Amino acid sequence: MRTKRKFTILLVPSSPQKRVFSISVPVLVLSAVFLASGILLFMASAGAWSMYRFQQVEQESQRLEMENRVAKSQIQDQENRIEYLTREISGIREKAGYVQSYLGLKPQGPGGGKIGQGGVELTSQNTALSSKSPFTTIHPSAKTPKTHAASLSASDIRQLDADLQQMVGALQGRQEKLDRTPSVSPVDSQGSWISSSYGVRISPFTGKEQFHPGVDIAGAEKTPIMTPAKGTVTFVGKDGPLGMTVRIKHDSVYETTYGHLHSASVKKGQHVDRGEVIGYMGNSGRSTGHHLHYEIEKNGKNVNPLQYMTDWNSDNLVMLAE
Ligand SMILES: [Zn+2]
Repeated sequence: MRTKRKFTILLVPSSPQKRVFSISVPVLVLSAVFLASGILLFMASAGAWSMYRFQQVEQESQRLEMENRVAKSQIQDQENRIEYLTREISGIREKAGYVQSYLGLKPQGPGGGKIGQGGVELTSQNTALSSKSPFTTIHPSAKTPKTHAASLSASDIRQLDADLQQMVGALQGRQEKLDRTPSVSPVDSQGSWISSSYGVRISPFTGKEQFHPGVDIAGAEKTPIMTPAKGTVTFVGKDGPLGMTVRIKHDSVYETTYGHLHSASVKKGQHVDRGEVIGYMGNSGRSTGHHLHYEIEKNGKNVNPLQYMTDWNSDNLVMLAE
């Protein structure tokens, strides 16, 4: 029979008078105690690890939640901005529609095309500038930002850009036309006066009725004569009764003539801008005093130059009536 193996633990006191305390523990029990201790230690460690991981997951979750909230707020901001921009673009398009209509680039749509009429939203099928009505627009009080944002497409903006470019081109064309339309007096109205008006008059030379194809502006000798619009000098020289004469072709529509000059300061073929001095007032040709004979031809026919002298001081016209 095999005896049970035991471990004996001795507790020896420091004082020799006291007795030694001993305890015997079977190996099996000791092993069980160690095993149990090991298991307990393992479980405690596992528990602590789990707690640590749980806290980590919790923190991560809070971080993600925060990020999510920030992202949502950013998306809201973006939506607000898109809504704002959509409304702004709609406003620009509305104004562009006005200008287009004014320039006659697009026909005004049915229903009179009142601003804000119908409050039609932006869609690729219904762009204000490409549709019949240039005044179609988003109503400012509309409260569907997502719809607006979704309905504003890149092609809408491209269309708007193309329309604006078309308008710029049309305006430049108009500006060129205006630059080439006689619109100011060729003589400063200060110190000068209309001595003979356009139309039928009694000739100072023959005493008979005759058609005067321009206006006579009298003033001091050598008063500077300025071109009333951009153009090209087509004639410089003596022209019978008109004496020393300058003629300017402004465009295919307007041509102007300046007679009885003292002298010319431009040459044939020269380009001139509005306000440029082309010569000086004189008494050359068939004339009774220092004055400018000023004629405007529109499409080859004489017109009353006074209507093209927008800066002329009307007070000076009183002298004409006397
Ligand atoms: Zn005249």
